[in-house]
Amino acid sequence: MSTPDLAAPAPSDQVVVDAAPSEHAARRRTVAIISHPDAGKSTLTEALLLEAQRIHEAGATHGKRGRPATVSDWMEMEQSRGISISSAAVQCRIDDVLVTVVDTPGHADFSEDTFRVLSAVDAVIMLIDAAKGVEAQTRQLFTACAARGLPVVTFVNKWDRPGLDALALLEEVEATTGLVPTPLLWPVGVAGELHGLLDVTTGAPLAVTRPQHAGERAVHTPVSHPDAERSWGAGWTSCLEEVALLRANGQVHDQELFVGHASTPVLFGAASLGIGIRTLLEVLRDLVPPPQPRRDVGGTPVALDAPFTGYVFKVQSGMNSAHRDRFAYVRTCSGRFDTAMTLQHPRTGRTLTAKYAQSVFGQRREALLEAWPGDVFGLVHGGQLQPGDTIRAVSSRAVYPGMPRFDPTSFVSVGPVDSSRHKQFHRGLELLDAEGTIQLMHSTARGPQNPVLGAVGVLQFEVAADRMEREYHCPVVVSPLPFTRALAVPGHAHEVVPAGRDREILTRSDGQDFLLVSDEHAARALRRRYPRLWETAGEGAP
Ligand code: GDP
Repeated sequence: MSTPDLAAPAPSDQVVVDAAPSEHAARRRTVAIISHPDAGKSTLTEALLLEAQRIHEAGATHGKRGRPATVSDWMEMEQSRGISISSAAVQCRIDDVLVTVVDTPGHADFSEDTFRVLSAVDAVIMLIDAAKGVEAQTRQLFTACAARGLPVVTFVNKWDRPGLDALALLEEVEATTGLVPTPLLWPVGVAGELHGLLDVTTGAPLAVTRPQHAGERAVHTPVSHPDAERSWGAGWTSCLEEVALLRANGQVHDQELFVGHASTPVLFGAASLGIGIRTLLEVLRDLVPPPQPRRDVGGTPVALDAPFTGYVFKVQSGMNSAHRDRFAYVRTCSGRFDTAMTLQHPRTGRTLTAKYAQSVFGQRREALLEAWPGDVFGLVHGGQLQPGDTIRAVSSRAVYPGMPRFDPTSFVSVGPVDSSRHKQFHRGLELLDAEGTIQLMHSTARGPQNPVLGAVGVLQFEVAADRMEREYHCPVVVSPLPFTRALAVPGHAHEVVPAGRDREILTRSDGQDFLLVSDEHAARALRRRYPRLWETAGEGAP
């Protein structure tokens, strides 16, 4: 990686006020971090912000081209946005590039939410704990990235602590993801004994001085090869040998393979100490692709400079108890969005007002003025927006493909504590279903008053029950059902398989019929008896 010009002025949107959407898009990177809980996602997010801030502070100190406002611009933005780990997204700048990191839920039970977030980003950072390798949830999330062909940057975290061997970690990355790992920032010293880093692109060794006090960041100092050899001895030799071995193996960064989801650049570091973070920011700036034209339902890419189109990737309500509003998270796909425009919602044919658009950074809401391709923003709406919806300028005809739903793996029956509140009960469940919190299912056998809820993780039921009580004032009783496998059945399930004691047929709100059985073993047995069940529409996670 080349060293960024510390004295470069922060970009000013004023400079490009007349720029086309594609020019704004070229200066944007929108990513998510996928990892197993505890690998350090929150720490890494924070480290990226801190490092970006440091770069800009340095820029301001140099005071180039009369822009001493760099620091305060940034600080003000940070303070007013109250950046925190619970943010829906955080933003930072490296030179003239604006990086948005969209947050993904940490718990496996919310993997469907994470999948939705992945529809809003252009690349992901796969974060791995050096002592644990590629863990279960990372693998699962990676599958979703693979389905979308998203470029993946791998960051091996916690190299300040004892962990696995660097080459073994790369082998594991390759075995579990199928991507060819290509080293960009390679450690000098085994995990727990980090002396420095080799910038593989430039061949420059960097000495790493650990911070002396809590809260301080590590210092990276370029050193010469003879100094590296003198100071690090065998550690330096091994580092060079390892990188040479990988190079001989063809594991060299190739931009086309990276963007095409065939290889993954790998960086080693330690987020909590700020080690390797600068290079990661540079990778975001230089290698991660900017927003590209998104394909519509017909497969035609919608040009970045076409009129505004956006994709709803997440819907949430009740975030602000004072307003009881519904909030849709939108990824800008083309054109320029501004709050004066009238929006069209093709799924319902209705129009929406853009006036209530808000920035989604931090916990406090702020009015949003405009958005460009790659930007995410929030839109307050009346409940009509669902994940997978397109919103667009009136002059646009584009519609994007909807959001596939996971086949649920947990089920409960649900009823109101107070049966006189049946209206709130049904309304509440319908809205939670539209948001994608739970999947609402019915059966003729149970009748319309006794729905079943499906979810990918049981925590979703807790969330749903809590929200039914708080937002719809309708406490509910949920009772687990003994099923863990839902076979999506083509057409009408009753025509494919008869009802039985050990199974149940339910119809999801989108009309998809499911056959619920206890486990995979039972599913296989039924498929043998009723071969049409093989024609199932979906097989779990897309
Ligand atoms: P998350 O669940 O993935 O968001 O993980 P967190 O960011 O909360 O980090 C989990 C734990 O790992 C915390 O105790 C962090 O302080 C610690 N941690 C994160 N990064 C590093 C690192 O680079 N080195 C060390 N030693 N600890 C780290």
